[in-house]
Amino acid sequence: MMRTSFAILAAIIPLTFTFGASVENLLPRNTTQKQDLSPAQCCDGLKRILDPSKVLLPGSPEYAAQEASYYSGEQVLQFPVCRVAPTSPEDVSSIIKFATTSNCNFAVRSGGHMNWVGSSNIGPEGFTIDLEDMKQIELLDDSKTVSISPGLTWADVYTFLRPHNLHTAGGRSSHVGVGGFLLGGGISFLSLEHGFGSDNIINYQIVLADGSIVNANEAERSDLYWALKGGSTNYGIVTRFDMVTFPLDQMWGGSLYYNISLGPTLLDYLVGFTERLAVDANGLFALSIAWNAADNDYLIWSPNAYLAPTPFPSPLYDGLEEIPTVRDTMRITNLVSVTDEINMSSPGGSRTQWFALVFKADATLPWDIYQKGADIMAPFLGKEGTSWALTLQPINVGMIAAAANRGGNPFGLTEKDGDLFLLLISIFWTDPEDDGKIKATTQDFLRWSTDTAKQRNLLNRFIYLNYALDTQPVLASFGDENVRRMKAVQKKYDPKGLLKVWKGGYKLDEL
Ligand SMILES: Cc1cc2nc3c(=O)[nH]c(=O)nc-3n(C[C@H](O)[C@H](O)[C@H](O)COP(=O)(O)OP(=O)(O)OC[C@H]3O[C@@H](n4cnc5c(N)ncnc54)[C@H](O)[C@@H]3O)c2cc1C
Repeated sequence: MMRTSFAILAAIIPLTFTFGASVENLLPRNTTQKQDLSPAQCCDGLKRILDPSKVLLPGSPEYAAQEASYYSGEQVLQFPVCRVAPTSPEDVSSIIKFATTSNCNFAVRSGGHMNWVGSSNIGPEGFTIDLEDMKQIELLDDSKTVSISPGLTWADVYTFLRPHNLHTAGGRSSHVGVGGFLLGGGISFLSLEHGFGSDNIINYQIVLADGSIVNANEAERSDLYWALKGGSTNYGIVTRFDMVTFPLDQMWGGSLYYNISLGPTLLDYLVGFTERLAVDANGLFALSIAWNAADNDYLIWSPNAYLAPTPFPSPLYDGLEEIPTVRDTMRITNLVSVTDEINMSSPGGSRTQWFALVFKADATLPWDIYQKGADIMAPFLGKEGTSWALTLQPINVGMIAAAANRGGNPFGLTEKDGDLFLLLISIFWTDPEDDGKIKATTQDFLRWSTDTAKQRNLLNRFIYLNYALDTQPVLASFGDENVRRMKAVQKKYDPKGLLKVWKGGYKLDEL
């Protein structure tokens, strides 16, 4: 249950435990000496340092419910030896200290929406820290800041903020988790004007490799604060994100659906829309060209939002009304309703592969990528449960400038990159027998799309972490200098490399 207040933890908290033994008592006297425990022993140890009810074992309904909540059908089928559900930063601190000193492998889950297997779950070689019971949220600083714990989804956050007529730079799909979204950047309805979600964080509370609970912000540990804006799983477990709030009451939002024959027209429209964001960045118009099994054809879905109760605001949406739709759910509504509608379009549970590319705003390349995709996916599409989509959205110059104005992030984008399109390819299927072929096809499709964008001199090096495939060189795409800085920050805050036992996410160690 969501609580509206909690004690703000200052700097470092000593490791004391309410339940059972302390971590120190479980370890050899010389705590610098590591002991290797089997995964089962790791779970036994966790039961001794925490309230044992927080350690969930296979066969229990609580374990099964957490497992079932992953977005990816492959992550659902990874079965850790146990799942542990901390309720406080102190619990997280105990777990990290115990895992790093006992060589216990673990993964971390917030909303469970990362697409690739092993990103936030683990098999019998370890345990999973599931943050779902960390659901505190409160307004601070005269409501200018909202303090959010990582067990919340964006639906929880927006439902909390709505009576206050406030909004923050969170996800556009209600069930996405706070933690993963913000550690990969996060693109919100506010991003085109205010940068990535992580550019709107003013303070992180994080449990570091040695178990200390610290703050990272502009004034305190500013190097860590910068790195965390795209930090993935390299620095520690974030137990609180303090984010800037923005006023929002009613808005205009929903979906527009179009016949596939309008693809080139709509892609041209998106190029013009992206240019007009320089005048008004309050709207998002994205395009998703998706296989629609019911009609045995492709359909274009355009999720839309404008952060004021104004239909087709001019000049941003000029000309859109004239393009004929096959369905239209646009309405004056609120953010909870818009993000729920978007969530329904991608409910999860399938096996899935996603990849991301960024290139100059251009209408022809995405249409060619769609045609290539239609061609290579054709042999799979007759099978029930198999589909794919190409989704395109702007990363405008204003978004890049806003990030720089808020102190910058590690992504390496500059205003010189110009207006960009972020492409997401998402492929879904249900039959495990298709794993090999579909994963190989995804790699071919990624290679072809990258090469084609490069040949046309349109490719941008940036790979968006939250949409990427596990094999994409996400961190390297931030650029050499940013990687060097990120590694230096890692060395400073985890000098012994204790967090190597943390599996999943994109790792600096692999570069
Ligand atoms: C339906 C759908 C809609 C989406 N919409 C958007 C969107 O609008 N904008 C956008 O930018 N992205 C979007 N995404 C992508 C989404 O941001 C990423 O999948 C993100 O990783 C999900 O976060 P999560 O907490 O749900 O995932 P998880 O799988 O729980 O976590 C993702 C990664 O972050 C790590 N992690 C999570 N919490 C913490 C923490 N507190 N401390 C340290 N590490 C942590 C995990 O270990 C894992 O490696 C969407 C994805 C889906 C499936």
